[in-house]
Amino acid sequence: MNQKININNLVRANIKALKPYSSARDEFKGTADVFLDANENPFGDLNRYPDPQKKGIKDKLSAIKKVATDQIFIGNGSDEVIDLAFRIFCEPGKDKVLTFTPTYGMYNVSANINNIEVIEQPLINDFQINLNQLQPYLDFEDVKIIFICSPNNPTGNSLNPDDIEYILENFNGIVIVDEAYIDFSAQASFIKNIDKYDNLIVSQTFSKAWGLAGVRVGVAYASQAIITLYNRVKPPYNVSTLNQEAVLKSLNNLEEVTQNIDTILEERTKLKEALSKLAIVKKIYPTDSNFLLVEVEDANKTYQYLIEQKVIIRNRNTQVKNCIRITVGTPEENNTLIETLKLV
Ligand code: PMP
Repeated sequence: MNQKININNLVRANIKALKPYSSARDEFKGTADVFLDANENPFGDLNRYPDPQKKGIKDKLSAIKKVATDQIFIGNGSDEVIDLAFRIFCEPGKDKVLTFTPTYGMYNVSANINNIEVIEQPLINDFQINLNQLQPYLDFEDVKIIFICSPNNPTGNSLNPDDIEYILENFNGIVIVDEAYIDFSAQASFIKNIDKYDNLIVSQTFSKAWGLAGVRVGVAYASQAIITLYNRVKPPYNVSTLNQEAVLKSLNNLEEVTQNIDTILEERTKLKEALSKLAIVKKIYPTDSNFLLVEVEDANKTYQYLIEQKVIIRNRNTQVKNCIRITVGTPEENNTLIETLKLV
């Protein structure tokens, strides 16, 4: 039903009218002997501006993900993918977005920065979407974006793909499926649906399974219409040369990335087993991510105790009563955590 949404009808008027910045490297892409066009310094190793199009990364991702290069946007972390969505589609002080809580905190922070109201729908039955409660909002014209985090942070579980598809079929705004943790999950990515739904943005990142959080590179996969808008609004050189090179290196070394994911998944099973034997642990939620949501007797106390022992986890008590979120670390780190918790 929604396949034929006209994305331009969802775009803010000022963005539609925007004449984007055109960098020297946007205007001339060929090879030449002399570059005196960008006011760069002629000396040094990093004296040139980075490729604004990130062609090397897009070519590689296009082959791996089976997506055309003009359906890929490379951002300064997926946090930039999120922020630009607000700036493209949401009129400050007027439009709204919808999130399913508890979820990743940046949707709210980005909304606040952009002066956008957030409608929060609680996840139910072990953190799934409540379609009945959502239904009326699907027709609200001022709800511009629905954020779906799957696997969800901090709960760890994947959201039911049928529910996500239902939303894509029945909502006329933008749907962002945040798949930051998808590589730890057995679920299929929604990337396969970007040709079917013009309003779908699938967000992924190099920060988790790829082990490059320090590099700050996130990716949006979407219809050509949406990617064109992202490219118009992004800062011209939003990903540095060093960061692009680090990502390319990783894309050329998929074996190591896969090995590390396998190790993390094995460690996740071991960590879960060890945690389940501790008296303070009440429940460990099922996870499709590289972390565990764990209910303990008293999350605040456990968190404080671990800090004192120099072991840092995330206290999620305010989001899910008495829950802590534990990232799967190296075997040694996980061991230290367990041994420390045994002494509680
Ligand atoms: N989405 C989710 C669900 C996350 O948990 C995070 C980081 N914790 C991000 C996005 C941000 O990722 P990036 O490092 O690519 O900005």
